[in-house]
Amino acid sequence: MFGVFPLALKTALHKRMDDAIPYLDLAAQMRPLRRDIDAAIARVLDQCAFCLGPEVAQFEKEFARLCGAKHAVAFNSGTSALHVAMILLNIGAGDDVITTPLTFAATSWAISYVGARPVYVDIEDATFNLDPSRVEKAISLRTKAILPVHLYGHPCDLDPLLQICRKHNLKLVEDAAQAHGAAYRGCTVGTFGATGVFSFYPAKNLGACGEGGALVTNDAALAARARSLRDHGTTVRYFHDEIGFNYRMEGLQGAVLGVKLKHLGEWNAARRRIAHRYHELLGSTPLKLPCEAGYAQSVYHLYVVRHPRRDDLKRHLEANRIGYSLHYPLPLHLQKCYASLGYKSGDFPVAEQAARECLCLPIYPELTDAQVERVASVIQDFFETRRGTTEVGETE
Ligand SMILES: *Cc1c(COP(=O)(O)O)cnc(C)c1O
Repeated sequence: MFGVFPLALKTALHKRMDDAIPYLDLAAQMRPLRRDIDAAIARVLDQCAFCLGPEVAQFEKEFARLCGAKHAVAFNSGTSALHVAMILLNIGAGDDVITTPLTFAATSWAISYVGARPVYVDIEDATFNLDPSRVEKAISLRTKAILPVHLYGHPCDLDPLLQICRKHNLKLVEDAAQAHGAAYRGCTVGTFGATGVFSFYPAKNLGACGEGGALVTNDAALAARARSLRDHGTTVRYFHDEIGFNYRMEGLQGAVLGVKLKHLGEWNAARRRIAHRYHELLGSTPLKLPCEAGYAQSVYHLYVVRHPRRDDLKRHLEANRIGYSLHYPLPLHLQKCYASLGYKSGDFPVAEQAARECLCLPIYPELTDAQVERVASVIQDFFETRRGTTEVGETE
């Protein structure tokens, strides 16, 4: 079916024309923004407002508006915002929090930092997100909250989770670190639970020039306590209402994020366009492609494909100088740091299989059509070559 000659020719052509495609290209995002960012940084230098300050306050207002939240509180990272989210709900030693094993480790750190225990529940095969149908079996008298993640920018199924929370008197915190502007049934994520947490790590859909995070909520009392906790537990300087943290966002990051926030809508739209293009181009390959649930508007933080021969595909991409990444190669219940929780291989087979099979392709707003086409064409070659090999094997 796939003659040797045309394929060889195609490959030769690629070799001549190609340019390496990086997995991530932050420089491409920076170039057109550089003047605005320089000006924003200069404002902070002129004001010397380095810790919080007016630029951060302005960014908080604008970010709250984007999330449809009454309050946004800026932090020095998503991890610290998650930590404070747990404290706001008075979660501590002896408590359980139900969460997903397939996420960045910081989701579970928040639970561990307050002395509580992460209780993992397997994911849905289709969305990679916490599977609501498995949550109730994991609830015990110790359970205080559910901490789902909108993984890869795709909202998790919030309605059934909220229903479980009401029934069992639990709190919900959204880890929206990968999902700035994503929507669940038409509403932006972040305020479905008690609080929602975002990260502005540089590689996220909205990234600082350094570290940053935010907590959003519609609850004025939670927002006020979050503001106090991030600033040494103070509301009046040198009077400490409770033991707090230095989790303040830097003025420089607030100014940079203010510039970038204006572009988030167009960037997310570009990510969606690229995802749809990948979908068209890869639809005929044996890859399992990411799907968008009927309730979801994903912002495609990552474009994650799956295949049992993932490691071969990985090597093929490397040979063709196409960047890729693995999110995440080892689920949290199997990490060394959580050995004491007593989980073992096979406990969460859906997450474990996803970890073995998943591979993230380059996706960022600046990726060109030609680059997307080249990634797809290199992947098509991988499967065509493989099919050729199998056919030879079968005739022998
Ligand atoms: C990035 C990320 C975090 C942590 O955010 P930082 O800003 O890096 O501390 C937490 N959860 C998820 C799902 C993330 O992707």
